[in-house]
Amino acid sequence: MQVVAVPLLADNYGYLLIGPDGRRAAIVDCSEATPVLREVERRGLALEAILSTHHHWDHIGGNEEVARARPGLRVLGSRADRTRVPALTDALADSESFAAAGLNGQALFIPAHTSGHLAYFFPDDGPSVFTGDTLFVAGCGRLFEGSPEQMMRSLAKLAALPDATRVYCGHEYSEKNLRFARELEPGNPAIAAKLARVEALRRAGEPTVPSTIAEEKQTNPFLRSHSPELQASIRARFPDVGDDPVAIFAKTRELKDQF
Ligand SMILES: [Zn+2]
Repeated sequence: MQVVAVPLLADNYGYLLIGPDGRRAAIVDCSEATPVLREVERRGLALEAILSTHHHWDHIGGNEEVARARPGLRVLGSRADRTRVPALTDALADSESFAAAGLNGQALFIPAHTSGHLAYFFPDDGPSVFTGDTLFVAGCGRLFEGSPEQMMRSLAKLAALPDATRVYCGHEYSEKNLRFARELEPGNPAIAAKLARVEALRRAGEPTVPSTIAEEKQTNPFLRSHSPELQASIRARFPDVGDDPVAIFAKTRELKDQF
């Protein structure tokens, strides 16, 4: 599978997935029709499907227009978002397998940013996962429709994927996220090294995706509620937080909301 990051809107990414024949393609999250169709045409691809991670406008804004422009196009999304993902044709349940553009994937139900959020996991050919607004590079999405506990469960599901899994997220937030991570764990060398790499990529105008599950486990504060240094940083700001990992996570999220 070839993955092409398509910058959309201010800081969103759509991901064009090109199948093994080099011609059939799908797009993960289509916020705008025009740049996606332009890229598809420029590369001479046959766009067969949209894979929508969740119903927010900056992820599905182009669904209707692309569906009109490409009769027969399939739109995959969460069964829980049946009424919220425009032009939906294939409503997927948790762990449900699917095929699109000659690629075999699996839907992972990861609610909390929204109550219907899906990730798309492709196990073959160097595993890859498309995490929408749930797992970012060194961050996680805001809790619009779920609890801290639910977000922890959803993130744990992603963290349980193979270490080498490439992580493609919905927004370019990596630099700011890593600055926040560094505040909480100034002694974590993996965070310092990754921030330096990300700053260099951004200076060159390059995307900072993909990350990997292994890198996220080392650097992402929302996967690191067990870290003694992170816990100490949270306790310094919230002396009454206690030892409960969910409480540590919730305070980490609260701090990030204000960062
Ligand atoms: Zn969102």
